[in-house]
Amino acid sequence: MSQSADGSPPESIGPSITEQELSELFDLFNQHYFGGRLRKYQVRIVTQFSTERRPETGGHLYRKERLIEIRPISLFGDNRLPFEMAAILLHEMVHVAVSDYHGQKFKEEVRRLQRLAGIDEIDEGYDIWEGTEQFVMILEQSPWARRLFR
Ligand SMILES: [Zn+2]
Repeated sequence: MSQSADGSPPESIGPSITEQELSELFDLFNQHYFGGRLRKYQVRIVTQFSTERRPETGGHLYRKERLIEIRPISLFGDNRLPFEMAAILLHEMVHVAVSDYHGQKFKEEVRRLQRLAGIDEIDEGYDIWEGTEQFVMILEQSPWARRLFR
């Protein structure tokens, strides 16, 4: 995957995703969703997190080390699709942007991304803040992002 100099979308990602591609997605998401204001983080694909986390957790952020770890296997033992890996990355990037875990600032930041993606309807009854579903939806609603995962 490579991004052209004029900012047009990179080539599509294959059936699996590499750390290099996730790193390039970090830059792309940073530009598109955060105006390039996030500090660069390294992205690592790991079978086990460096620190103990609940098994259902898809990603983990190490702020001091500026590192994001993402697990490629779901709780049910399935390989995560590139799209899901990207959604976990975007979730972790919201954590980079705001530091109140899944609190009010986090929710407001997710809503900002939703508006950018053209999502008006927000189902308040659905607990969207822990999982990646909301971020999958944000990517699905962004034509430029969808094109990456053909
Ligand atoms: Zn989170």
